[in-house]
Amino acid sequence: MRPKIAAGNWKMNGTAASLTELHSLATGLPENPPQVVICPPSTLLFRATDATHGSPIQIGAQDCHTEGAGAYTGDISATMVADSGATHVILGHSERRDAHRETDADVQAKTCAAWAAGLTAIVCIGESEAQRDADQTLDVIGGQLDGSLPDAVDAENTVIAYEPIWAIGTGKVPSIAQIKEVHDFIRARLIKRFGAEIGNALPLLYGGSVKAANAVEIFAVENVDGALVGGASLKAEDFAPIVAALAQY
Ligand code: PEP
Repeated sequence: MRPKIAAGNWKMNGTAASLTELHSLATGLPENPPQVVICPPSTLLFRATDATHGSPIQIGAQDCHTEGAGAYTGDISATMVADSGATHVILGHSERRDAHRETDADVQAKTCAAWAAGLTAIVCIGESEAQRDADQTLDVIGGQLDGSLPDAVDAENTVIAYEPIWAIGTGKVPSIAQIKEVHDFIRARLIKRFGAEIGNALPLLYGGSVKAANAVEIFAVENVDGALVGGASLKAEDFAPIVAALAQY
């Protein structure tokens, strides 16, 4: 049985006032909640772990450096993320692959750094609209998986998030058949590389314009073990119904 995970990516949104959203979310969790991981900006990591102390909500960062410490102005290390009490870190989000020119090799190195600090890596992959239109989706996804995941992947240290770039923040969502095709492909690729035990145990999240209105049909897809949610994770009133939908599976 793979864990169900509802992860929220706040991106560069949120100040101390936003911590009330974590209280509201914690108060409204369903009886048997899935795993809930909120990834606020790094300025809020310590306060977010304090705010969720005693609740099942876990906290994650949105990136980390490959090194543990050093002369890297503006960056934070996996060690620092873990020091805040966070348990997860998003790596290789398409916004970082694009704006910060992060390569698969960078993501792989960051994943190793995250593991060394005891964090679970949420590794993001996804095709652009041009790549989908050119029928390259599965090739792109396969290449990103091969290049971004270190050999020592297991179900405790890694979560994979499939996020078609063209669906992020756009309100456009792939068809259920498209989501199923890619998630089945990822599952088969993981089994081929890591063996049936690890390949079948790794959680696969879908991300890209998930809302309460589409969550139920997305979560019903085989090999979708939850979601990585951007915009709809900022407010507890939007995210709570997504968490509740996942709790049914
Ligand atoms: C994301 O940024 O990871 C994401 C999925 O964003 P949104 O839900 O807003 O599309």
